[in-house]
Amino acid sequence: MSSNQTDVVFFDENGLRTDQRKPDEIRPMKIKIGVLSRANGSCYLEWGANKILAAVYGPREAHPRRIQLANRAVIRYRYNMQSFSVEDRARPGPSRRSSEISKVSREAFEPVLFPEDYPKAAIDIFVEVLQADAGTRTAAINAASLALVDAGIPMRGLVSACAAGKVDGKIVLDLNKPEDNYGDADLPIAMTEDGKITLIQMDGHLTPSEFEEAMDLVQKGCRQVLEIQKAALLEKFASVMDDDDEEVIEEEIEDEDEIENSGKGNAAENDDDFDDFENDSEGGSADLDDEINAFVAEVSERLAKDVSAIIRSYENEDCDIEDDDLDIVVIEDEEMDADDLKEIEKFVSDFDDDSDDDSDEESDDEETDIFIIEADDLDESDADEDAEFDDDFDEDEEEE
Ligand code: UDP
Repeated sequence: MSSNQTDVVFFDENGLRTDQRKPDEIRPMKIKIGVLSRANGSCYLEWGANKILAAVYGPREAHPRRIQLANRAVIRYRYNMQSFSVEDRARPGPSRRSSEISKVSREAFEPVLFPEDYPKAAIDIFVEVLQADAGTRTAAINAASLALVDAGIPMRGLVSACAAGKVDGKIVLDLNKPEDNYGDADLPIAMTEDGKITLIQMDGHLTPSEFEEAMDLVQKGCRQVLEIQKAALLEKFASVMDDDDEEVIEEEIEDEDEIENSGKGNAAENDDDFDDFENDSEGGSADLDDEINAFVAEVSERLAKDVSAIIRSYENEDCDIEDDDLDIVVIEDEEMDADDLKEIEKFVSDFDDDSDDDSDEESDDEETDIFIIEADDLDESDADEDAEFDDDFDEDEEEE
C-alpha cells in the first residue's frame, strides 16, 4: 500500500474490478498437495498470479540443540520471497518485511498446533514466494496449512487466510496488485475453522464502519478459501483412502482363502472387484502423476532460471526437489561454472543409475523424467545468497 493514485481506475462501468472480479470475489486458487518428496508435507498453491511453494518438516529434533525447549516443540516459519518473484528484483535474504511476515504467520498457526506434545522438537514451515502479486502472506498461510496436514501433523483444524481492503472508497475482497499498491487500506487476516482469528494486520485507513464491513467480507473470504482447501485435501487423500481400502480387500481375500469349501464363489467375486478396484486406482494415480509432471514442466519452463535457485536452496535444507514421482528439474546454463555443471551432471547420473536399478525390478512406470531446461541468464549470485540466507535463518532463530 503505497499511496492513493487518483488516476488509477479500479472499477469499470459495471462495477467490476480490473481483473473482472466483483468486489466480494476472491481470485481463482489452484492447489497441489504433496509436491516435494523429501519434505514431510508440501503444497504448491497459485492464487491469482501468486505462486507459492510450502514445505513442512517435523516434528523432528530441533537443531541447534540450544533452541530446544524442554516441554514443547519450537515452531519455525520462514517466509521467503525469491528475488525473481517481483517486478523489481527483490534483494535476496531476510528483510524486515520477511521477518515480520514469518513472525505473524508462525503465530497464526500456534493456536491450532499441539507443540506441547513434542518436547525438544521443531516443526519447520518454509514458504517460498515464486511469484508475487499481492496477498502473498495470506496465500503462503493457506499453502502452509495444507502442507502441515500433508505432513500428518495433528492440528485442531485448518487455518485459512484472506485479505480485504478499500479501493476508490469501496470495500473489496482479496486485493490484487494495483489495488494493494494504490488502494486506501489492506486488511489481511487468518482464521481457524471455528472462526477464531489468528492473524490480523492492517495497512492504511478505514473508518470503524468500513472496518466492520471489511471484517465481515474478509471472514467470508476465509470461509471460501477453507472450502477450496478442503476440496484439495479430498482430491489428494481420496486416492490414499482408496489404497487403504485396497489393503483391506486383499486381507479379506486372504481370510476367505483360509475358509475351506466355502466362499469360493465369493472369493472369485472379490477377486473381480479387486481387479476393478486396482485398475481404477492405478488409473487414478497415473493420471495424478501425469498431472503433477505436466505441472512441474509447465512451472519449470516458465520459471526456468528461478527453479535452479530453489533446488539449490532446498538442497541446502537437506530437502532436494529430487523426487521419484515428480522427476527432476535441472537447469542447463552456459554461465554456470565448471563445478556447478559437474555437480548437476553427478546429480543426474546418480539419479539415472537409481532409475536403472528400479527399472530392472519393475516396469517402465518407474522411468525417470529429467527436465533439462536451458536458462540463458541465470543469476548465480542468487544461489550463493540463498545459501548464506539459510545460515542466517538458523542464526536468526537462535536469537529469537
Ligand atoms: N512487493 C514487491 N516487492 C517487495 C515486496 C512486495 O514488489 O519487496 C509486492 C508483491 O507483489 C507483494 C505486494 O507488493 O505481493 C504486496 O506486498 P505486501 O507487503 O502488502 O504483502 P502481501 O500482500 O504480499 O502479503
